[in-house]
Amino acid sequence: PLSLVWLRRDLRLDDNVALRRAAEASEWIACAFVLDPPLLRGPRVGPPIVQFFFDSLGVLRERLRQQGSDLALLEGDFSGELVRLARRIDARAVFYNVDYDPDAVARDEGVERALRAAGLDVHAQTDHVYFGARDVLQESGKPYTVYTPYRRRWNARFDAEPHPPVASERAAGPKLLARDAIGATCEVPRPEDYGHASSERYPRGGSAQAKSLLRAFLTDEIDTYAERRNAPALDGTSHLSPHLRAGTIGIRTLVHTAAKRAAAARGASRTGIDTWTGELVWRDFYQQLLVHFPRVAHQPFVEAATAIAYERDERRWNAWRDGTTGYPIVDAAMIQLNTTGWMHNRLRMIVASFYTKHLLGDYRDGERYFERHLADADLAANNGGWQWSSSTGTDAAPYFRVFNPTLQGEKFDPDGAFVRAMIPALVKVPSMYVHQPWTLPPLLQAEYGCVIGRDYPAPIVDHAEARKRAIDVYGAALGRR
Ligand code: FAD
Repeated sequence: PLSLVWLRRDLRLDDNVALRRAAEASEWIACAFVLDPPLLRGPRVGPPIVQFFFDSLGVLRERLRQQGSDLALLEGDFSGELVRLARRIDARAVFYNVDYDPDAVARDEGVERALRAAGLDVHAQTDHVYFGARDVLQESGKPYTVYTPYRRRWNARFDAEPHPPVASERAAGPKLLARDAIGATCEVPRPEDYGHASSERYPRGGSAQAKSLLRAFLTDEIDTYAERRNAPALDGTSHLSPHLRAGTIGIRTLVHTAAKRAAAARGASRTGIDTWTGELVWRDFYQQLLVHFPRVAHQPFVEAATAIAYERDERRWNAWRDGTTGYPIVDAAMIQLNTTGWMHNRLRMIVASFYTKHLLGDYRDGERYFERHLADADLAANNGGWQWSSSTGTDAAPYFRVFNPTLQGEKFDPDGAFVRAMIPALVKVPSMYVHQPWTLPPLLQAEYGCVIGRDYPAPIVDHAEARKRAIDVYGAALGRR
């Protein structure tokens, strides 16, 4: 029989569970992807992620064509398109990998029903997480809501029952349906076709790019990850997040590459590798929360947090969004996001804390903004990160923790290399002032080309006052729990 593999957030041929299962069960395989115009034009995606997915679809199609096959690229209603293709090529089954996003779950239930009603067998697999949401539970069967015990259990399962990468490309290669039999389907679109402006500066998609980032990270960075990961100027992280989002590299490949390396490592380098693997486990942790507590997609995890009295002030919102708050580390971070479609993790924590605590903004507004501007925008990790920062989430920062943006800058960007790279007005400002340029004496401001109010804004809020206000407002909702 012939099977369709419906690709979604798994745009690769290797280490792909659905593709592997299809290869085991079928004589022939065709790979399909369905473009969803309302999603592509809607508010939940922005240019960097759309460009990344289209890039990756192009690379995937090329790879399939090199093997004499093709990517069946369809556009429109999922079940209608898949059923039409299945009838045309006489497919009997559809294999796909599950997505935990509550909207995707609801959509997939409907699609599955329609496919079955059309006489197709449907097989859903776990692929985008290392352990599925029901694989790592407490003894009582309840889900974990705290990371550290989750990780302990995750490690124990890993030791007992590892899931090595699946050799799906090798298994499926000889079974891929010929290009003529698939027939003509859509061209890979450009972001502009759906109203998004593309940019050379956004992360580049495709499996080959993912592998080359991994290689570079293994060569230069993983051993020192624990020490260097918090410094945005050092750029000591893998940049694999958009690839994990679009599935251009498999999570099993990453976990097992790190585990093999850790087995041979000692001392600091072992710590670096374990710390990095811990981040991949954070990813699984936030993914499983979405399955067990889907309400977090719209509501704070901590119910008392619904009483927080947020403020929405357009002037402050615009300053945060545009990187003109007057706090260099916050502004440089937002400029990085707005221009490159990616932001360093430490900076995500700083700007999220600043928006929710200093400006008393609703974390959901910040979360939505990130969703439209990150190439790695992912509901689970984004929501988890925002709810952590705003003290509304599971295992979150305590509500009275309010990052001091000046001290954060001085600690993680000590010589100002990162803020200078993003903000031209700070280039000449000496390091001791670079994270608080408003304290420069006026004569020096002129000398260094950083006159406050002309070349660079004055801080929009005073840190000490804002901190006190945040603790009062958050404390009123969360303080007496
Ligand atoms: P590395 O440091 O190399 O880490 C490796 C991988 O581990 C990452 O690619 C990512 O898949 C995963 N990871 C790392 N940190 C986390 C984390 N805290 N939570 C979950 N997974 C993690 N990550 C996203 O992938 N998409 C998002 O939309 C997203 N939004 C965030 C919003 C906020 C407010 C915060 C604080 C964090 C957010 N993160 C998000 C997590 C993290 O910032 C990024 O995954 C990381 O910066 C990506 O860079 P990297 O690939 O170089 O990471």
